Amino acid sequence: MANKQKGCHGRDVFSRMNFLYQASALMVEKNPVLACHYGNMCKSVGKKTVLRMEPEMKRTLCKVCGIVLKPGVSAEVQINGYNEKDQMLTVVCTMCSSSKNFVLNSKYDMWLDNPRSVVETIPEKKAEE
Ligand SMILES: [Zn+2]
Repeated sequence: MANKQKGCHGRDVFSRMNFLYQASALMVEKNPVLACHYGNMCKSVGKKTVLRMEPEMKRTLCKVCGIVLKPGVSAEVQINGYNEKDQMLTVVCTMCSSSKNFVLNSKYDMWLDNPRSVVETIPEKKAEE
């Protein structure tokens, strides 16, 4: 074990969350209740292990019922506000009618999009090793 590579912390949990998210996204049209269940499991797995979900992924999950918010299928999307400065994107869940608001500001970048946020890049290990 002298040649042991440093691995990604919580890698198995991230892959499970990824699987649950994809399962939820597939079930949105066929079985919305099952999609809610998978989405809630995805969120609770992350909470239990104190691992953060990617913000772009988190923004597509309903905060109340957990369904994947697909515009036109499980969510209604509208832009509110007349001035370009204070426009808001409102995403309303069609299952539970809860809403999420996002500020539309082209000057704002998320921290994870900034190259300075990357501390270290861990090469992916192959499954056979
Ligand atoms: Zn909802």
